[in-house]
Amino acid sequence: MELHDENTFKIRSYQSALNSLERGDADIMELSEDELSKVPGVGKSILEAIKSLKESESFPQLDQLLEKTPQGILEILQIKGLGPKKVKTLWEELGITSTHELMEACQSGKVAKIKGFGEKTQDTIIQNLEFKASNAGKWLYADIEEVLENLTEKLENELKESKVTLVGEYARKMEIISQAEWLIGAGNISSIKKKFEDLEDFEMDASQSGPFSIRGKVQAVDLKFTIHLCSLNDFPVKQYALCASPLHLQSKISENLSIGDALRANGFKNDSEFFSQHKLQYIPVEMREGYGEVQLALEEKLPDLLEEKDLKGILHNHSTYSDGKHSLRQMAEYCKELGYEYLGISDHSRTASYAGGLEIEKVQKQQEEIDQLNKELAPFKIFKGIESDILGDGSLDYPDEVLGSFDFIVSSIHSILNMDIKRATSRLLAAIENPYTTILGHPTGRLLLRREGYPIDHKTIIDACAKHQVAIEINANPWRLDLDWRWVRYAMDQGVMLSINPDAHEMDGYGDMKYGVLVGRKGGLTKEMTLNALSLDEIEHYFSKRKKELTQK
Ligand SMILES: [Zn+2]
Ligand SMILES: [Zn+2]
Repeated sequence: MELHDENTFKIRSYQSALNSLERGDADIMELSEDELSKVPGVGKSILEAIKSLKESESFPQLDQLLEKTPQGILEILQIKGLGPKKVKTLWEELGITSTHELMEACQSGKVAKIKGFGEKTQDTIIQNLEFKASNAGKWLYADIEEVLENLTEKLENELKESKVTLVGEYARKMEIISQAEWLIGAGNISSIKKKFEDLEDFEMDASQSGPFSIRGKVQAVDLKFTIHLCSLNDFPVKQYALCASPLHLQSKISENLSIGDALRANGFKNDSEFFSQHKLQYIPVEMREGYGEVQLALEEKLPDLLEEKDLKGILHNHSTYSDGKHSLRQMAEYCKELGYEYLGISDHSRTASYAGGLEIEKVQKQQEEIDQLNKELAPFKIFKGIESDILGDGSLDYPDEVLGSFDFIVSSIHSILNMDIKRATSRLLAAIENPYTTILGHPTGRLLLRREGYPIDHKTIIDACAKHQVAIEINANPWRLDLDWRWVRYAMDQGVMLSINPDAHEMDGYGDMKYGVLVGRKGGLTKEMTLNALSLDEIEHYFSKRKKELTQK
């Protein structure tokens, strides 16, 4: 509507209806007409639109607007930093209707010359276009998980005599999946290949396929696939080789022998047999990355990895006090219901006004409510926390007496993300040195496939956390998974604890803990080094000891 100069009053009425529908809990497709009409902002025309959406997945006004809008414009709208107003200007002034044309116009400097754009905006558009192109066809693990598991089940049902398993990035639990890979072991390979011609889910590309491989695209989603075919005899060796990363396969187990060589040397029935043949400690599949795990296995120093059931509480969560969807009580009761011993609530601090950050009076009000709820829900406990914005100069967001009222503080950067490595690192260092910081939140601010994080000097940051006994979070939101798993072992080696934090903005957000555990395990994370694997007694002691040390300083 903004693109097509619709009445601003009408636009605002859609926005306000959308806002209040999103704030509610219910699936709008499930609500009755009566229930819908009670939602603030939902008037007659919105009601009609929802009714039509239920019946035909569209509605006339939307169809008319889409008809007038080139497909490429919709794609351009997806690019970060380009709102409808700017897109409209590009369309009108330069006739740009595709990402390709936009890139050309940027590269020839035309975009910078438009009023309101400038060199900086043009550079950002180029960067974002490049980022988008390099990520086409890639998926977050969490977003593609169900598709791949369902397809595997279908394959197993279709190919009953064969062995079917997912291999590749997915089997290693990579945070980003760029290709789906299966290994199929069968007595008769050519009959399997024939069968694939009829499987609708797999769009075969004959020119890319070979005698032992089938390649193409998964029909339902934009994702490439490879099916590897082998005899039943070769299955265990092939499975190992296809699950591991190339770096892992190159890792040496003796002066003249790599894992890859060893795989080719003699057969084995399963992975465990392979490891015992070579006197290696068992390396879990997700760790087979070539990040030093083979050396650790040789020295029998591989750790016992963290499991989801080891987690005893959930830190870093939001409620309706700031930008969360569920109330403090709902968040607490659901956490308790899931069997956890404690919840850390850490709403946004006051500078984060876009996210409903808490003014000091609201902090007090929340802490009183927490005291009440703790009486009611005992022995379950809610810890009083805050996600304090790290301000431009690295300081935290409240005066010391307010900071001192919290049990724990997650310090995170949310603004002025455009920084060089020096500025970003020193800003984080200041926050880590602040005695009130308990946990460093999402250290790089990255959003996988959407936005690169600001660059930081990981070693310097982790060393400082070790010195000041600040834990680092592994933000378990599938978009973030930040701290990156590649730095987990270094952090543990320096004595820094990691905290698996879902950053939940609604009750269902707790489910993301799973993805934090997956990447933590990739990095070799143990229960002992996980902050929220501490029991209630232990973490209570941990928080209060830290606080006592502060007040003595
Ligand atoms: Zn945050
Ligand atoms: Zn948060």
